[in-house]
Amino acid sequence: MAKKLFIPGPVDVRQEVLDAFATPMIGHRTKDITVLQERISQNLQKLFYTDNTILLSSSSGTGLMEGAVRCFTAKRALVFSVGAFGNRWAQLAEANGVPVDKVEVEWGNPTMAEDVDKYLSTGKYDLFCVTHNETSTGVMNPVEAISEVRKKYPDVIWCVDAVSSMGGVKIEVDKLGIDVCITSTQKCLGLPPGMAVVSVTDSAIEKAKTIPNRGFYFDYVNLHKFVKTKPYQYPTTPSIPHMFALDMQLQYILEEEGQEARYARHTAMAETARTWAIDNGFELLAGEGYRSNTVTTVKNTRDVDVAALVKAAGENGYLMSNGYGALKGKTFRIAHMADRKPEVLQEYLDMLTSKL
Ligand SMILES: *Cc1c(COP(=O)(O)O)cnc(C)c1O
Repeated sequence: MAKKLFIPGPVDVRQEVLDAFATPMIGHRTKDITVLQERISQNLQKLFYTDNTILLSSSSGTGLMEGAVRCFTAKRALVFSVGAFGNRWAQLAEANGVPVDKVEVEWGNPTMAEDVDKYLSTGKYDLFCVTHNETSTGVMNPVEAISEVRKKYPDVIWCVDAVSSMGGVKIEVDKLGIDVCITSTQKCLGLPPGMAVVSVTDSAIEKAKTIPNRGFYFDYVNLHKFVKTKPYQYPTTPSIPHMFALDMQLQYILEEEGQEARYARHTAMAETARTWAIDNGFELLAGEGYRSNTVTTVKNTRDVDVAALVKAAGENGYLMSNGYGALKGKTFRIAHMADRKPEVLQEYLDMLTSKL
């Protein structure tokens, strides 16, 4: 039986969006695909608040993260990690032979702008990575403050992992000056997994052209070239079903629900989840001011048996999320993202209360 998904991705998908996956195929070198991809791109620019080029990848988000560290690092990459997904940036660099340093904080803490300033001022780096919303710890990093200090280092390429927040939280890419901003379809966008999206600046692409061994499938230069010269086409066959669904979902987000209403719904759900945790005698892993609006990581200060709770939730039709990696059992997570209705979150929390 399909359970309601309270894990931080994949998320429950609206039936209308699922149905879009059954649309008959069109050719990937046709005028029809160009029209479709052009519209998707324009709507994603609105969602990302950017004029930068939008590229789609028929992979999960990690593919574009891998491509980014590889294509944009000439000297050395710097990764600011506040959890599992921050660590992934460093693993990707290492796996691709890209020189990298990692600055890690204790899980639950954010990346501070002062640290970004301190490390970038060494002049050792030409790329730095920040996780906007760390899905393991429920920390949302202060990208506005980071963007302020980054102004001192305009030539250092800034990559942001916005996989679990774009579409649920307002991230103004151009205002913040983010060079490379990556998201996946299966989190706040409310689609099935299998496609990823990135916005990329022209200056980053120009720099990538000078870097050898960019790989093939995730070569940003080649993806960019196809999008620009064969309008909105891709070097390889893309997941056309995802495009049909993404097109429909973007129109829903932008025109039916509205961006601001969508962000407000996420904020309200986050408040509900935090209040539930505190009212039930738990604590929150992330500190005040750095708490995610899309996933709440609850500190298991009551020492409940989280595995048993996951099992009980499952028997009631809900897929609950334990803590991530080393935080398993010590925390659990409540996802509140994508098209989740606040009343369904409340039902879920009431169910959890009854099992505590
Ligand atoms: C889910 C997630 C990823 C991984 O994305 P995939 O689409 O599974 O490759 C990366 N970063 C964050 C913050 C995530 O939540």
